[in-house]
Amino acid sequence: MERLGRYLEQANMAKNQKPRRRHIPNRTCVGCRQTQAKRNLMRIVRTSEGVLYDPTGKANGRGAYVHNDSACWERALKESLENALNVSLSEKDRKHLSEIMTSLPAENDAN
Ligand SMILES: [Zn+2]
Repeated sequence: MERLGRYLEQANMAKNQKPRRRHIPNRTCVGCRQTQAKRNLMRIVRTSEGVLYDPTGKANGRGAYVHNDSACWERALKESLENALNVSLSEKDRKHLSEIMTSLPAENDAN
């Protein structure tokens, strides 16, 4: 129950684009370029192993943030993620990130 409540709260905040507290650090989604409280975004990190989804948000390396939304991931994977991380995605990276993307809930509320 609690997990569901938290999920709904995050989904709701993502739509409203209104951080409740000013001290929450904001990050920009590389997909849609909208600023969002860090905890509402998924982190992708560049490591020596490649470019990986970072569920902990704490992995060492240059990071980029993307909404929990397949549309944002699609845009990010096209080019903005490579720019943000200053790296070229390998086939392996793309496969990994595409797998994450397809596991996201499809949300068609935008526009
Ligand atoms: Zn986004």
